[in-house]
Amino acid sequence: MNKQTINRVVIAGGGTAGWMAAATLTKSLGTQLEVTLIESDEIGTIGVGEATIPTMLSFHHLLGIDEQEFMKAVNGSIKLGISFENWLERGDKYIHSFGKTGKECWAGEFQHFWLKGLEQGIDAPFGDYCLELQAAKEGKFAISKDPWINYAYHMDATAYGKFLRKFSEKLGAKRIEGMIEKVNLNIDTGFIESLQLKSGQIIEGDLFIDCTGFRSVLSEQALHTGYEDWSNWLPCDSAVATQETAVAPPIPLTRAIALDHGWQWKIPLQNRVGTGLVYSSRYQSDDNAKQTLLDNLEGEAFFDPKVIKFRTGRRLKGWNKNCIAIGLAGGFIEPLESTTIFLISSNLIRLMRLFPINGIEQVLVDEFNKQAKAEIELVRDFVVLHFHATRRTDTAFWRHCRTMPIPDSLSSRLDLFLETGRIFIGAEELFRVDSWTQVMIGQGIVPKQYHPVANLMGDDELRRFLNGYRASIQNIITKLPMHGDFLKHYCPTEI
Ligand SMILES: Cc1cc2nc3c(=O)[nH]c(=O)nc-3n(C[C@H](O)[C@H](O)[C@H](O)COP(=O)(O)OP(=O)(O)OC[C@H]3O[C@@H](n4cnc5c(N)ncnc54)[C@H](O)[C@@H]3O)c2cc1C
Repeated sequence: MNKQTINRVVIAGGGTAGWMAAATLTKSLGTQLEVTLIESDEIGTIGVGEATIPTMLSFHHLLGIDEQEFMKAVNGSIKLGISFENWLERGDKYIHSFGKTGKECWAGEFQHFWLKGLEQGIDAPFGDYCLELQAAKEGKFAISKDPWINYAYHMDATAYGKFLRKFSEKLGAKRIEGMIEKVNLNIDTGFIESLQLKSGQIIEGDLFIDCTGFRSVLSEQALHTGYEDWSNWLPCDSAVATQETAVAPPIPLTRAIALDHGWQWKIPLQNRVGTGLVYSSRYQSDDNAKQTLLDNLEGEAFFDPKVIKFRTGRRLKGWNKNCIAIGLAGGFIEPLESTTIFLISSNLIRLMRLFPINGIEQVLVDEFNKQAKAEIELVRDFVVLHFHATRRTDTAFWRHCRTMPIPDSLSSRLDLFLETGRIFIGAEELFRVDSWTQVMIGQGIVPKQYHPVANLMGDDELRRFLNGYRASIQNIITKLPMHGDFLKHYCPTEI
């Protein structure tokens, strides 16, 4: 491979991915690297991507970002999970929260005890045993260490880019505004040598991070890396997005409302709501999607819905030659579980751990690609679950989702859970047992049997345990402030 020492890193693109890359590189290796970011005002950023998951807290912790400063700057609110509405069937609703449900024992998780309780007539929903889920339902939140309440953020995507730009520039990142028109490759190695801007300026580098969004100017247009298409498992390929005025205080939940040919998100920030429709162009036209979105608004639209086209899947090699594709340039799983910003941070941390400061070795590249592929495939399976496990037959879209083939890895996991109540998660998986059980049960997959470990508790003991657990959650929730009040005190928006 290319044993040239890495001194100059060039980041192409200044969306969320580009600035997260700049922040990570300058924070961790800023004293040893020259970091340059190129972004085009003419193209702009995608402007969506406003819901996160709890891993964002760890990412910010690594960067040393102050939470209150961040939340004030991005009009931030708290997210305790996602409210899935009309997914199992019309009128149904469940929450996938970030919390732990009940208490497990070494032989089996909480669902076994819950299932035995059901058999005995203790028919409280599974979610009644989860603190975060109950807090979300009541619209309450506080930062609490004992017990810890697991949370993530809703944020203004554009403001987040600006926040990270300030952060990265302070640490030495250099920003160049301009349109990349040509990617110059070394004739012998095929490695990228430089990027040529419309202005004629040439920016040379040793390592390039492609953050140019769906265009993938470096990884795809120049290096022809290739793409694995997952649209046979994830049927949506389009979105329309806008923002609307808030008509109520923000709830600590993203709403994902299943519609006839896809679904609608609602992401409440402190003083506005981000909203959009994700749909399949096979079943719904862009004009019809725009109209549906406008008809569903509760407040006033800030701008006409803009249409975004996408192809779910992954770039065949996240790292190809001396170019690493991060963010939408590297692949995309539709936004139902808000996973793209997580994948950006995870790939950046992976890159830092494998950083080829003394030159690019094939083993480093292969390890990066192996880990990144495994991670995104598992996220994909979790998202496919929501579409496939539905009882809806009311439109051609949902009939397709019910009957479409699903990845074998997902199929075997669902069978194991349905038949035995068991679920096993790999050490590296993003979504843990609590997420899988909440969503599988929410989507109507209720196991046929439970682990015999649940029989170790006598009937009275089980009743006391389940009722006591629920009561202890309610006791904590009565003491929590309303989410809106928490925000006003902790991080009033500066936007
Ligand atoms: C409908 C939808 C909803 C989403 N919701 C969520 C969500 O809730 N949570 C989540 O985690 N993720 C979500 N995502 C994903 C999220 O939007 C992205 O992860 C995030 O915005 C990062 O985008 P990016 O930086 O890769 O690309 P972009 O924002 O598109 O940025 C690309 C950058 O490259 C620059 N560029 C492109 N070509 C050139 C060129 N030739 N020369 C110079 N510069 C160039 C652009 O100017 C821009 O600065 C969503 C995505 C979609 C499509």
